[in-house]
Amino acid sequence: MDFPMKKFLSYYRPYVKLYLTVLACAVIVSGVTLVLPLLVRYITKNVLEGDLSIALPKVYWIGALMLVLVAIQNIANYFLDFKGHEVGARMESDMRNELFAHMQKLSFSFFDKEKTGQLMSRITNDLLLLSELYHHGPEDYLKYLVRFIGAFVILFFINSQLTIVAFCFLPLLGALSLYFNKIENKALRRNKERIGDVNAQVEDSLSGIRAVKSFGNEHYEIEKFSRENNRFLESRKEFYNVEAKFYNSVQTIIQLITITVIIIGSASIVNNSFDLADLITFLLYINYMIEPIQKLTHMSTQFQEGITGFQRFMEIMNLKPSIENQPNAVPLPMEEVLGEIEFNNVFFRYEDNSGYVLENLSLHIRTGEYIALVGPSGAGKTTFCSLIPRFYEVTNGEVLLDGKNVRSIDLQSLRKAIGIVQQDVYLFGGTILENIRYGNSSASDEEIINAAKDANAHDFIMNLPNGYHTIIGQRGVRLSGGQKQRVSIARVFLKNPPVLILDEATSSLDNESESIIKESLEKLAKGRTTIVIAHRLSTIRNAQRIIVLTEDGIVEQGTHNSLLESNGVYSNLYSRQFELTL
Ligand code: ADP
Ligand code: MG
Repeated sequence: MDFPMKKFLSYYRPYVKLYLTVLACAVIVSGVTLVLPLLVRYITKNVLEGDLSIALPKVYWIGALMLVLVAIQNIANYFLDFKGHEVGARMESDMRNELFAHMQKLSFSFFDKEKTGQLMSRITNDLLLLSELYHHGPEDYLKYLVRFIGAFVILFFINSQLTIVAFCFLPLLGALSLYFNKIENKALRRNKERIGDVNAQVEDSLSGIRAVKSFGNEHYEIEKFSRENNRFLESRKEFYNVEAKFYNSVQTIIQLITITVIIIGSASIVNNSFDLADLITFLLYINYMIEPIQKLTHMSTQFQEGITGFQRFMEIMNLKPSIENQPNAVPLPMEEVLGEIEFNNVFFRYEDNSGYVLENLSLHIRTGEYIALVGPSGAGKTTFCSLIPRFYEVTNGEVLLDGKNVRSIDLQSLRKAIGIVQQDVYLFGGTILENIRYGNSSASDEEIINAAKDANAHDFIMNLPNGYHTIIGQRGVRLSGGQKQRVSIARVFLKNPPVLILDEATSSLDNESESIIKESLEKLAKGRTTIVIAHRLSTIRNAQRIIVLTEDGIVEQGTHNSLLESNGVYSNLYSRQFELTL
């Protein structure tokens, strides 16, 4: 993948001024580093080898100058350290916000494929080291460039021949760095993927801890985890191997240069063309020239990690939501929605390419109609319903709301118009009040309480330790399945959508909660177009129309009585259930 440099740099934009100051500090720090050995050279060569009677005051003056320079250097370095890192951290935080916001916009088909743990990795670990890259990247380039050029010029003045000899080694160093750089980058990417897998494993296992324990499968989970953890370990070993090879081959070359300089330099001293003070200065500066080559091509491990982090960041940022507003989408104010739904020759398959779930399906649901969808599990009932709010896009054909193709309606207003109560209820961490308000963020407390009353939830909420302000979820009170369902129904009452989908809303409940919830659902359905999916056929007897959906599509429709009379799939299903409940 080409490195998206432009995008990478764009994150500096809000902090340009501050960062330029940081860079100026980097130049000051490097400049002082270059000057100090020159002063040492001046002392050893000019002062101490000259008239010793006047040497001492000179040494004091130079000492004072060094102190001033060092003070300036350290103040600049403080600013560089502090503000530089701050700039990096801010940029990283901006990107983290952007990534999270982008993930929120992606479509269901994306979340079907990705593991939550992997996604968490990208938001947390991957971006962690970017601040180092953003801060140190340009700063180090500049610092090393100043040092390299400065050192080269100084060395050249001291001994041009020796400088050229040392310089000849540099391309070798550069090529080696580039080579290892590439392998190291690959190893790091693998590292990141593997730690993502470890996270995914933790996420999966801990979310399902009830299932784990109820099957007594802790050992199995431990094994699975340790396999992932081992894979991660292997990839780290590989990385450290590359790193160690890299470091040590570079060191070898550096030592080679140093030894060559010492030998040639000493020979020159013997030939009287060079002196000892010069050789020492030369050795002091030679590192200033070598180090940048090694760093500039390699950029330390942190930078590598930052770069892989950025690449993984861009992988997600480059994904377009598969379902988005069309350019000419029209908003559909909820008050104006009638709730007429039409499926015209709809074909649908999931992106995993496993054949059509719905094939050439057509159905017309009138405004305010109360219909039931029944059929064997896996027939596509849930899929059918998820096409209405455009959770997925039809592969072929069209879905209309009030005669308008759902693709032409502004996505947010489309989804506002549809309320869904499912079997699995997700409540967020926070209070009950906040959870119900999720249905309509501008609702008053009073409206929320009314919605809870409508959902038969008010009484049990009032019995909780802090009433509506009781914290629920991970670190709060646990609600029973039926109570959770009632909170979720209150949410939909508050949302007040003209179209309602009840997908097995009472399926996992005991008889008692079921009857309380059925009552509130019937109330909820009043005046709305409603689609009910239920496997307990007793709950849908009074639907205006019952649609029987099987793998072959819609095979029957009619009222309960007419379907029983026609003695088809429905009457079969019904009598089987009836026998079971006897
Ligand atoms: P029902 O609600 O009638 O039980 P679904 O609509 O849930 O059936 O599923 C219909 C078919 O689509 C099933 O074969 C199921 O495996 C498949 N399916 C459901 N959801 C997905 C998904 N997110 N990705 C891929 N296949 C899916
Ligand atoms: Mg279903």
